[in-house]
Amino acid sequence: MTDTQRAALMRAALEMAGRGIPVFPLWPGTKIAAWHRPDRCPATGACADGHAMPEDLATLDPDRIRWRWADRPWNVGVFPGPAGRIVVDCDQPKTGDDPDGWQQLQALAADLGGPLPDTWTVTTPSGGRHCWFRVPPGCRLRGTVKHIASHVDTRCWGTYALAPGSVFEGGAYELLDDTDEAEFPGWLVQANVEHATTAISGRGEKPVKAPDAYVAAALRSETDRVRREPPGRRNKVLSTAAYALGQLVGAHVLDEHLARTELQAAVAAWRTPESLVKDHGVIDTSLRAGGRNPRRITGKAA
Ligand SMILES: [Zn+2]
Repeated sequence: MTDTQRAALMRAALEMAGRGIPVFPLWPGTKIAAWHRPDRCPATGACADGHAMPEDLATLDPDRIRWRWADRPWNVGVFPGPAGRIVVDCDQPKTGDDPDGWQQLQALAADLGGPLPDTWTVTTPSGGRHCWFRVPPGCRLRGTVKHIASHVDTRCWGTYALAPGSVFEGGAYELLDDTDEAEFPGWLVQANVEHATTAISGRGEKPVKAPDAYVAAALRSETDRVRREPPGRRNKVLSTAAYALGQLVGAHVLDEHLARTELQAAVAAWRTPESLVKDHGVIDTSLRAGGRNPRRITGKAA
């Protein structure tokens, strides 16, 4: 690696931060965060109050970026979630004739009545592409693996992507389309929602806590009620269910991410992309409201 490459990667990091996307160094030529694993945590410094994840430590600060990228040609890890962005990662199939991720995404758009807007796009060394989108206000989305299609992943909360300029296996991530980032379309928001219980965690992500049987039953019955509710009173039923689950989150017997993801999955079953942003807002507001009034748990579940 030359000084020119190091300077180019520093510039790439500064550019991403300038777009409001926090960056974190990855080992040169790799996708591995330059940070310790949770099981090797020294519990000092940034981890004094518990292990800090790269997502917590990623920065927008140009001075810190210049200081960090001064010593090595670090690859540039970028965190779309905290920046209100989501990256659709379209990969190449391992074997010949399969459609690639980009073709799968286009087919899905046609099936579900798309649009698939032009957006800021980066090509990957393996011949895939990263399409960057802005997440609609009020939505909080997780990254997914092979969920939208077999060669389509997403990177959002809990996962990171590589910025253009980064190098991997002898190739580089390169900017393909400099168009402004489009808003993530409603049909893709829905396609991205999955059940947390079957979610594949990103590297280093804390596993979803398994709820107690009583709490699991409550989660199932509340989300079933939402899923089965015919049009008419859906808003009311959703806010009631989210409030009730929020009370369990507030009582520390239910994981908030699990509750949110299961409620989003229930709403996805309505197949009403036009009201999705509003519905996700109702989930967030009611979960929070319920959390401020924790359920008093007696007996086993506590
Ligand atoms: Zn640590």
